[in-house]
Amino acid sequence: MAKIKVAINGYGTIGKRVADAVMLQEDMEIIGISKTRPNFETQMAVEKGFDVYTPAEKVSDMEKAGIEVSGNIEDMAANADVVVDCTPGGVGENNKALYEKTGTKAIWQGGEDHELAGCSFNAISNYSEALGKDFVRVVSCNTTGLCRVLTPLDRNFGVKKARVTLMRRAADPNDIKKGPINAIVPNPIKLPSHHGPDVKTVIPHLDVATTAVKLPTTLMHLHTLNIELEKECSAEDVKELFEQQSRVRFVGQGITSTAEIMELGKDLGRPRGDMWENCVWDESITMYEGELYFFQAIHQESDVIPENVDAIRAMTELESDPLKSIAITNKNMGI
Ligand code: NAD
Repeated sequence: MAKIKVAINGYGTIGKRVADAVMLQEDMEIIGISKTRPNFETQMAVEKGFDVYTPAEKVSDMEKAGIEVSGNIEDMAANADVVVDCTPGGVGENNKALYEKTGTKAIWQGGEDHELAGCSFNAISNYSEALGKDFVRVVSCNTTGLCRVLTPLDRNFGVKKARVTLMRRAADPNDIKKGPINAIVPNPIKLPSHHGPDVKTVIPHLDVATTAVKLPTTLMHLHTLNIELEKECSAEDVKELFEQQSRVRFVGQGITSTAEIMELGKDLGRPRGDMWENCVWDESITMYEGELYFFQAIHQESDVIPENVDAIRAMTELESDPLKSIAITNKNMGI
């Protein structure tokens, strides 16, 4: 069977990871990536054998730097079955007309609004909604992390209401422009934060409200969850349920911080030390006065990567069963 042709528009933090994950799948391949500047990431893409595309006005800059250019972004989209748009938040929406013109399916990331695609995606929560769709948005790292635990809790015990505090990393490790570097910033100050409504773009009926602060760290986000469930259950029942989730990993054994989780990612030999799964402290899972509490850490640079692979499979109808797609993606990535 012919492989699905995938292009990456925006080869940055998310784009380069999606490209590597797609290349590990047997049913899809990368036909090109786009870069706007001839920097070290562009050179790495060339060394990995990817065809490099660039906006028409940047072609001469690339060629002057010795980068061979295969065409402009429209050429790339026209050659692909699916474009995974990983341009910075708010930039991707400008590309919709181009994807419509070339008749190419497109996936945007969490930095774009739900309305742009009309379908916000998380594999375990609503895979079927994306079947055959032309446009899909893979929700943000925080929303992905929340959907992965709230969906199984809701399906098994019923979520009466979820209240979550998100402690967000200030910037990605390679980012030298953002902060804070010595402050805690309520962000946004106006409550509740937008993360709850974002979860509802995937699980509309859920009663979920969130607050968020930014912290001077680059490694991971950390969530404190407090959930009222419809059915009575024990902490052990919740642990058993999470144990069955392939994209939830328990952490313990001396791991008491996000720093140690990132070290584990490196020790596991993961590419870039990535931690694709939600990292839940099993010891934190507690029922207190009938309510569930636990902590989870989310690796913002990588948890959405397997979800992008599943979204490609759903949109192109390579696989209609969510659990089968998740299993294939996991196996090929080594999750
Ligand atoms: P990034 O800045 O690391 O990468 C964006 C890439 O797009 C860069 O290589 C940049 O040069 C390129 N680019 C910029 N303008 C372009 C254009 N007009 N055409 C083509 N390429 C262009 O950004 P990122 O962190 O990878 O974020 C991408 C998307 O993923 C955003 O929507 C973001 O909200 C979302 N997201 C980011 C994270 C994260 O923590 N980094 C997590 C989940 C989702």
